[in-house]
Amino acid sequence: MNLRSYFTDFLSLIYPNLCLGCKQPLPKGSKYICPKCHYNLPKTNTYQLDDHIFKQKFEGVVPVEHVLVYTYFIKNGIMQHILHDLKYNDNQEIGAMIGKWFGYDLLLSGFADSFDLIIPVPLHPDKLKKRGYNQAAAFGWGLSEVLGVPQFEEGLIRNTNIESQTRKSKVRRIQNVDGIFEAADASTLKGARVLLVDDVLTTGSTVIACAEPLINAKAKSVSIAAMAGVK
Ligand SMILES: [Zn+2]
Repeated sequence: MNLRSYFTDFLSLIYPNLCLGCKQPLPKGSKYICPKCHYNLPKTNTYQLDDHIFKQKFEGVVPVEHVLVYTYFIKNGIMQHILHDLKYNDNQEIGAMIGKWFGYDLLLSGFADSFDLIIPVPLHPDKLKKRGYNQAAAFGWGLSEVLGVPQFEEGLIRNTNIESQTRKSKVRRIQNVDGIFEAADASTLKGARVLLVDDVLTTGSTVIACAEPLINAKAKSVSIAAMAGVK
């Protein structure tokens, strides 16, 4: 045992790293979540179903190919703790970790060659400035690594001043109906199977607003992936 790992072990005796789920000290080799809580994640396992509660949120509203939700969102449940750490404790690493875990599940469920591009739901620029990162993109990077699909972090833009944007644009911009979201580069999107990623899927209204400009930019298909979904 070298001095450094001796010192780390010594520190963890005084300040043990606790599991975000059960708050028990983490066993050696585990980060953020213990093996038991990992095993007990409330996975939806709806990835391969044609019809399920999360896909129904989009029926008749916007054409989406797959709606892939990793876990159910349960109040005070483990995923809520994970999401809190990701959003408010600067823990981008846990977002990427969940993205990787989900990525492996998707590979096993037959999604090995299903997407060309990952695009995260953009954060409001004020929020991005305050937080310093987009939590949906952290999740997207994990998915990107395991699925081998590039993430285009600025694929969608969130407009702040809609009026001035509309007025100044002589070039036709590809926007959603309210003009909140705009596709950044239509040439990259044309013909692409896009996987739109977000942290939590609730009503689906944000994702619907994001899907519109992607479809209008002639993306071949739009699918959705989220860390957690509200039933
Ligand atoms: Zn635990």
